[in-house]
Amino acid sequence: MRAILRAARAAASRVAAWGALGGAGMALTSAPTECKRAPELPAPGSSVRHRIVVVGGGSAGVSVAAQLLRKMGREKADLAVIEPSDQHFYRPAWTLAGAGLVPLSRSRRAMSSVMPRGARWIKAAVTRFEPDSNALVLDNGARVSYDYLIVATGMQIKLDLIPGLEEALEGDHNVSTIWDARYVGKTWDGIRELGLREPELKHGGVALFTQPRLGRGCGGAAQKICWLAEDWWRTKTMVRPNLTVEFVTGRPALFPVEKYARALAEIGEERGVHVTYTSELVAVDGPNRTAVFESEDGARFERRFDFLHVTPRMVAPPVVEASPLADKTGYVDVDKYTLQHVRYPNVFAIGDSASVPTSRTIAAITAQAPVVVHNLIVTAGEQPGQLARYDGYSSSPILTRRGGLILAEFKYGEEPGAPPAVKETFPFFFDQGKEVSVLYALTTGLFPWAYWNLMTTGRWYGPRGIFEPRMKFVDTWAMP
Ligand SMILES: Cc1cc2nc3c(=O)[nH]c(=O)nc-3n(C[C@H](O)[C@H](O)[C@H](O)COP(=O)(O)OP(=O)(O)OC[C@H]3O[C@@H](n4cnc5c(N)ncnc54)[C@H](O)[C@@H]3O)c2cc1C
Repeated sequence: MRAILRAARAAASRVAAWGALGGAGMALTSAPTECKRAPELPAPGSSVRHRIVVVGGGSAGVSVAAQLLRKMGREKADLAVIEPSDQHFYRPAWTLAGAGLVPLSRSRRAMSSVMPRGARWIKAAVTRFEPDSNALVLDNGARVSYDYLIVATGMQIKLDLIPGLEEALEGDHNVSTIWDARYVGKTWDGIRELGLREPELKHGGVALFTQPRLGRGCGGAAQKICWLAEDWWRTKTMVRPNLTVEFVTGRPALFPVEKYARALAEIGEERGVHVTYTSELVAVDGPNRTAVFESEDGARFERRFDFLHVTPRMVAPPVVEASPLADKTGYVDVDKYTLQHVRYPNVFAIGDSASVPTSRTIAAITAQAPVVVHNLIVTAGEQPGQLARYDGYSSSPILTRRGGLILAEFKYGEEPGAPPAVKETFPFFFDQGKEVSVLYALTTGLFPWAYWNLMTTGRWYGPRGIFEPRMKFVDTWAMP
């Protein structure tokens, strides 16, 4: 444990060193990586077959494919990953890059370098799912059939649901978002630029951060950028006394778990960050630097801003939403414990595209992947046994300042409809409801390293590190 923490501290001090340089020269180039896998594309109109097909080569798709290949071997798995993109992203680094702590290039590697060895990479997008005939159609018209399907297509941000937002993001109005790689650099530029406007802000300035009411995207990211920006303005610039910092959230609390919600609200009070609850951003007027919000009772109000960071709404990918696999919200309709489709037993979903009622994070994927792997192997008859159960684990490392973090970890509530319950990894070492600097080191140092080196190769199990978790089974655990 001590060795891990020491390594994490060393890695985090490298992050801090970058931050001290002000994140200068935020290059957009990829880190140099070894090219492992060449993509393939079936001929237009042709048909191919694989025993296991994974759709999506993001965090969920790559890690579950790597774990399956490790367990089953290349021959038995006969596994293809369908992914159209050349690039693979570690999205948590977008928060760090948006706050000037690391270069954006740290979030990105060539897809070929993370594609698991032994997988066939089909470089195409799926345009239609046909689960009744165990097949899907690619954007070039080729068909891929399968025995087992894992959907890992993530979710989509919808900038166009907020009138004026796309224009404001493209314009020169200090409007940005860390939820889209194109605007991450703009976020840090905006934070830094506002910090230099001391004479202009003598009569007061306003920095706004928003979070939508609905959506299960990483809940912490919307507010992490707010805390980190406020920390920068307070500790590194002269503007803070004249700057109003406001976090406007569509939700009734800063976090769905009361312990963390209380801790974060206290930090807000201490640092003079105003929090407005149950109010949603509904329009942006970039040229007039005005944001329009709607409160729960339908009343609208405006805020003028000098800096605006938007967390947009997120939706299921249209190809999933339009398919027989979707539930009424558009996500893949899986059992929230087994991650197996409720109507098609040979279909599973993992990560952001699964309908599970928990916060969608990489942390959640580390707990879901071994469950999907086990359940697919049992369903395929490769191993006798019962289906394993995912407990809803997810985690949000909420960076509250440079050097401080609240590590929120939780799982499904004990009763149906209950809020998430706390499930902490370090209860005997720290009070995770308080800011802890060692945990900051884990998040900024160890986790990115573990992601690129262990998770994408199927050897990282989140809170259990490199040790595979013991499965909990469906019929030995009473379901709420
Ligand atoms: C700003 C930000 C901060 C975050 N911070 C954290 C954090 O601190 N901790 C944490 O644990 N999580 C965090 N997350 C959440 C985490 O990044 C996501 O939960 C994770 O990336 C989801 O992985 P995924 O594979 O489900 O989706 P993605 O990573 O989005 O991958 C989906 C893949 O599917 C592919 N795809 C889509 N449609 C198709 C199609 N039709 N055919 C074939 N392929 C397709 C896409 O090209 C993509 O590669 C953060 C996210 C963001 C945006």
